[in-house]
Amino acid sequence: MYDYDLLVVGSANADLVIRVERRPAAGETVLGSDLVVHPGGKGANQAVAAARLGARTALLARVGDDGHGRLLLQSQRAAGVDPAGVLVGGAPTGVALITVDPSGDNSIVVSPGANARLAPEDVRAASGLLQASRVVSAQLEIPLETVVEVVRSLPSGTRFVLNPSPPRPLPAEVLAACDPLIVNEHEARVIAGGELDGSPEDWAAALLALGPRSVVVTLGAEGALVATGEAMTRIKSVKVDAVDTTGAGDAFTAALAWRLGAGSSLPDAAAYAARVGAAAVTRPGAQESFPTAEEVESL
Ligand code: ADP
Repeated sequence: MYDYDLLVVGSANADLVIRVERRPAAGETVLGSDLVVHPGGKGANQAVAAARLGARTALLARVGDDGHGRLLLQSQRAAGVDPAGVLVGGAPTGVALITVDPSGDNSIVVSPGANARLAPEDVRAASGLLQASRVVSAQLEIPLETVVEVVRSLPSGTRFVLNPSPPRPLPAEVLAACDPLIVNEHEARVIAGGELDGSPEDWAAALLALGPRSVVVTLGAEGALVATGEAMTRIKSVKVDAVDTTGAGDAFTAALAWRLGAGSSLPDAAAYAARVGAAAVTRPGAQESFPTAEEVESL
């Protein structure tokens, strides 16, 4: 018996957002709106998305011993995530400094902070959490060696799902553990080493040749493509009025990981995840936009 449907290993950031008339040039100071602080980071987002759907979820992450860290812990608890694996201290909480202009274009500076201190030994110390989890998901806003340690520490029978964002080339050991590797076009290109021609089916074939057991290519409003050694299946998106796509990929990945753990086939899990992603783009923000299972049902 597993205590958790999903363990997310990843980042937790405070997103500090200021709206401006014009983003500043070098050496320039501009005045902006009041500061708005949102809980974010791909790991924290995935955990909240899964818990809102009803998954028993835990998060392994690191935040600073500061106000932003407490905000992140509070938002995880409020969503129903077990934050027992959220380590505190070592550096300030990671932050993203975001300025957004009226056209919606933004400039972002990320300080990884405590995320960069989530270390392989933290994964080893959390072996109880890994043992207790049916599925483990990760992203790349934490050190790659920490993701490598997750892969090495996976109990037999525990499924591993990776969204390699922000993308960088991956060691064969990590690729071989992915079931699936979930990428958008940009991530697919970087993982494949820069060369990517033809259709999403061609990209998926190129990625499968690198060793993952399965690949999912997300295609925004076009839905997704699911690829295994046996078959390629296009997953239709749900038609919605998109307001803000922030966090759609995180919600998609979390939902897919959860449904796989519940026994769904990869195409069925991806079809459900596409509904969750579509629901998430109908509302502004990231964590604030993630739907409950009832909202997915009524979409
Ligand atoms: P990422 O944010 O990682 O680039 P995508 O934008 O591809 O990821 O979004 C993830 C998934 O969310 C898509 O595969 C799709 O199922 C769903 N989705 C995203 N944008 C839309 C949209 N405009 N309409 C419907 N579904 C969407």
